[in-house]
Amino acid sequence: MDSSPTQTPREKLEAWLRYYDDLNLGAFYTDRRTMGKRTSERAAANAPAAPPVMQAPIAIAPPKAAPPVSVLPVVNAPSLFEAFDRVENDTLERIREDLGECTRCPLHLQRNEIVFGAGNPRAELVFVGEGPGHDEDVQGLPFVGRAGKLLTQMIEAMGLTREQVYICNVVKCRPPENRKPEDDEVATCSPYLYRQLDVIAPKAIVCLGGTAAQELLKTKDSISRYRGTWFDFRNTKLLATYHPAYLLRNPNAKGEVWKDLQKVMALLGLQPKKPSR
Ligand code: URA
Repeated sequence: MDSSPTQTPREKLEAWLRYYDDLNLGAFYTDRRTMGKRTSERAAANAPAAPPVMQAPIAIAPPKAAPPVSVLPVVNAPSLFEAFDRVENDTLERIREDLGECTRCPLHLQRNEIVFGAGNPRAELVFVGEGPGHDEDVQGLPFVGRAGKLLTQMIEAMGLTREQVYICNVVKCRPPENRKPEDDEVATCSPYLYRQLDVIAPKAIVCLGGTAAQELLKTKDSISRYRGTWFDFRNTKLLATYHPAYLLRNPNAKGEVWKDLQKVMALLGLQPKKPSR
């Protein structure tokens, strides 16, 4: 091995490696298959006159079959990054400003008003619906049509007023013909909803109907499978119940919804409103 005081550390290291190669030691290499190639290349470059060094054939064990990878269920929920991706010092005003005169998805083409949300910015209870209908689109306010009137009655039956809670939707512009919002429309709009929920930081979120529940719980399951069950949503309790518009079509389901709302009342320590005489 040649070594001189003027060698750089890299040259010294290379000299050491050549020396170990010459001794046919391959411990510095993780892949001995390429070692033989590199050794003979270097030997050819550095000592053309020397007879080629015969490498003992290296027995390469056939690759072992990889251990079976356990198949974990894919959790269809926000990643850790998304789950904690909160905007510092956020406010409802800032979210509204960021939304601007939104044109991020096709729903803007036919909307009249953006329906941002309404109510108490410090509400302990937030209701999340699907998206504005005709009346909401005209007034720029959530749940002001027929379904909205029923929601108001439900809120009052819980011993609350609309002004005490916060009401918003998964999408902020009316889908044409009141169709369900498409996945990409929801994906475009929902970050603003998430920010609203983070800012308000209520004690409970009630999803009204499958669209809200499926978006916040990241599920495709039908709401009938999990309505009335408490879930954790970004450290807030979340429960899904039927949409008031569904109740208008299926009044028999009102009893189930009332049971769900009683769970919310128990969590918030609310007494049902006494019927007025
Ligand atoms: N239905 C909804 O989901 N939201 C509204 O604001 C009105 C009706």
